Amino acid sequence: MITRLSQLFLRTLRDDPADAEVPSHKLLVRAGYVRRVAPGVYSWLPLGLRVLRQVERVVREEMDAMGAQEISLPALLPREPYEATNRWTEYGDALFRLKDRKGADYMLGPTHEELFALTVKAEYNSYKDLPVTLYQIQNKYRDEERPRAGILRGREFVMKDSYSFDLDEDGLKKSYNAHREAYQRIFARLGVKYVIVAATSGAMGGSASEEFLAESEVGEDTYVRCVESGYAANVEAVITHAPDARPIEGLPAAVAHDTPDTPTIATLVDWANSADLGRTVTAADTLKNILVKVRTPGKDWELLGIGIPGDREVDEKRLGASLEPAEYELLTDADFAANPFLVKGYIGPKALLANKVRFLVDPRVVTGTSWITGADQQGKHYVDLVAGRDFEPDGTIEAAEVRDGDPSPDGAGPLVSARGIEIGHIFQLGYKYTDTFNVDVLGENGKPVRLIQGSYGVGVSRLVAVIAEQKHDDKGLRWPSEVSPFDAYVVIANKDESARAGGEQIAAELDSVGLNVVLDDRKASPGVKFKDSELIGVPVIVVVGRGWANGLVELRDRFTGESRELPGDEVVAAVQAAVRG
Ligand code: ATP
Ligand code: MG
Repeated sequence: MITRLSQLFLRTLRDDPADAEVPSHKLLVRAGYVRRVAPGVYSWLPLGLRVLRQVERVVREEMDAMGAQEISLPALLPREPYEATNRWTEYGDALFRLKDRKGADYMLGPTHEELFALTVKAEYNSYKDLPVTLYQIQNKYRDEERPRAGILRGREFVMKDSYSFDLDEDGLKKSYNAHREAYQRIFARLGVKYVIVAATSGAMGGSASEEFLAESEVGEDTYVRCVESGYAANVEAVITHAPDARPIEGLPAAVAHDTPDTPTIATLVDWANSADLGRTVTAADTLKNILVKVRTPGKDWELLGIGIPGDREVDEKRLGASLEPAEYELLTDADFAANPFLVKGYIGPKALLANKVRFLVDPRVVTGTSWITGADQQGKHYVDLVAGRDFEPDGTIEAAEVRDGDPSPDGAGPLVSARGIEIGHIFQLGYKYTDTFNVDVLGENGKPVRLIQGSYGVGVSRLVAVIAEQKHDDKGLRWPSEVSPFDAYVVIANKDESARAGGEQIAAELDSVGLNVVLDDRKASPGVKFKDSELIGVPVIVVVGRGWANGLVELRDRFTGESRELPGDEVVAAVQAAVRG
């Protein structure tokens, strides 16, 4: 097909949109691919929709090839199934909830585990029907706290979600691996640079799970890798390498010291090093006790104390992931006033435990470790307060930041960190949903068998932004052929009739062999056309201009920036070769 730029519903912009920070967002708006309607809600204009459809096509082809079957469930969902699994409440503020005219509760689906489990239950009743994998490519709705970077984090976005149902755990593992491989093929075809990392399972519930993260500095996910062992994990999923417990015998007794004006770790360390303790103290010798309040969905706020070595900060995402589905907030002055045993700057384990505040510690705080920490009175700290002797925490929590150089959980070497954008997520869900809905089939021996479920997602619309992010240059977008809105961009670069006719002819020839062509037939200057051709990012640009008088056209490679002249009758073969890569 030939698309004429003179007719195309497109307006490119000279300036970056004011609300855009990341390059993909700026370029997709400037090049006329998407338009913002509300925070995290975007319209797809012709060029954007073409790329989105291309990504969808690649995802669909690979899902079909692995034997998954496409269906389409509604995005508008009744409350009851999500009530049954408690997600109506647990999903929290990210769920769009609405009422129909009769007052019945509805929601816009953020993910569809419940509905797929019910769908399989309704249709299948024999072990002979299994295994089965179903998928859909559909709009999802999440009231994200911080919609960001255009379509990268939308509140309405397109996801491919699939769900596998198997008779046993071995079957689930096979379905999981089939997805893992299909995802590798999808992202390879899309030309995305990515890593597979261990993940936490978040609000989905369930156990084994991995994320596919596109490498990107603008990513919101941080992952770590151990070069020696190949271990890779989202920081949220990193399990701290805990030292062995140490003997308590012989450790000096805890002593409460006057430590005036030491409400911060830095001032406390200064005090300790001037106090003649017989050793040099660093922040890592102190135990910092952070207070938050936590609310499990449907319950009341509760205090939680978190003890971490003083040289580390709390990583909010790790803390959030550890507490999920509960949410947390920092304490207000009113909270401190209501709990006078909390002495700001001097909070210690003893008062927390004495006042029945749940107290969780960093995994490094093992039995036999000795700490300088708050003594619960203004201007007082303990020295040599020993875990397992002087205080017994209620458990451990992964809340402290992970740092470059920290030991890998497998003990193989140091961790290094980088940033990424989550493009896919695969879960071995287990029985969470099939248990709730009693999804059973009749087994071979006549007894019911409970099905085991997996859940797998690809961020289809997010991928458009991810590819733009990884491939753009300072002139504009650069699409790989597989997803480009067109195979070739033909520029008529001269005002004379002969160049115009030449452009038409070249476009017609490209079209006749099945290539998708956009013809820049606008009455604009060549300079404007060249700029737009680069901004829009089609991989091959064919310039029909001055040389046409001698039968020559110019072929520009948008990726390498290389350009060469060639006879007009060689263009089709050259473009075909470029498209095939
Ligand atoms: P994130 O951590 O980025 O919020 P998630 O863990 O909530 O993602 P999943 O529930 O695993 O995401 O959804 C599957 C896929 O859908 C993700 O891997 C991601 O590519 C995509 N996705 C999730 N949320 C959004 C969003 N708000 N906008 C665009 N794509 C999204
Ligand atoms: Mg996820």
